[in-house]
Amino acid sequence: SKAKLFDENTDVKTSFKDVAGLEGAKEEVQEIVDFLKTPEKYTSLGGKIPKGALLVGPPGTGKTLLAKAVAGEAKVPFFSLSGSDFVEMFVGVGASRVRDLFKQAKEKSPSIIFIDEIDAIGRARGKNAMSGSNDERENTLNQLLTEMDGFGTNTNVIVLAATNRADILDKALMRAGRFDRQIFVDLPDIVERKEIFEVHLRPIKKAEDLDIDFLARQTPGFSGADIANVCNEAALIAARKGKKAVNKQDFLDAVDRIIGGLEKKNKIIT
Ligand code: ATP
Repeated sequence: SKAKLFDENTDVKTSFKDVAGLEGAKEEVQEIVDFLKTPEKYTSLGGKIPKGALLVGPPGTGKTLLAKAVAGEAKVPFFSLSGSDFVEMFVGVGASRVRDLFKQAKEKSPSIIFIDEIDAIGRARGKNAMSGSNDERENTLNQLLTEMDGFGTNTNVIVLAATNRADILDKALMRAGRFDRQIFVDLPDIVERKEIFEVHLRPIKKAEDLDIDFLARQTPGFSGADIANVCNEAALIAARKGKKAVNKQDFLDAVDRIIGGLEKKNKIIT
């Protein structure tokens, strides 16, 4: 049996209200939602609908979440794949798999294709000449460029891609008619952290002493993914102690645990 090339979700439930903060990025992708919902409005005036946008920012800041919310808001199918899985899993057949993906997305258009970690496919060509899989990766990248150039402006497939290393991408990807828009998705500031806590506290049984402003102050440098982890970890800590609600101390313990995990990760990198 064939390994799975991509996920297809035709009933995305994620919406902008699941994405906290990121007001600027949400405004920019709102335009893409409008293109997908009423393409005629734009094309009838001779405008060309963009084919791609690059979401750029550190890990865990909500790039995947935002891309999914675009599909959810526009009510269109969401085709997603990870650049690194792709390069590892499809040695020898990457280019033909890219063709399959675009074919399916076109058949179901309007639709979104989301490529996470596009840098795994889209690193500048000609570097790492020693690596054996390099030709393969270049073929895959070339096919991606061909597909993006090949579909007409009325195809109504928009390709979103995420990276935390826009600087290492092949410049050909950023040319007009490809990923010619960059949308920055940054780490949250204190106000945004508070909003992210509010989203992830929704399903949690909260004790009286919980103070969201305090939690936001205790978590500088945390990404949205880190905050989601804190909330889940706090609930698990409270449950382990047999509590009926999650309190401030459970959250502080969870924050400590997440900071411990982040420090360990940094040690491996340096
Ligand atoms: P990576 O670069 O590691 O793939 P990413 O930027 O795509 O990360 P997501 O996968 O979207 O990050 O985020 C992981 C999870 O963190 C989300 O599913 C969500 O639970 C939480 N999260 C991240 N950012 C936000 C946000 N702005 N609002 C609410 N939740 C968030």
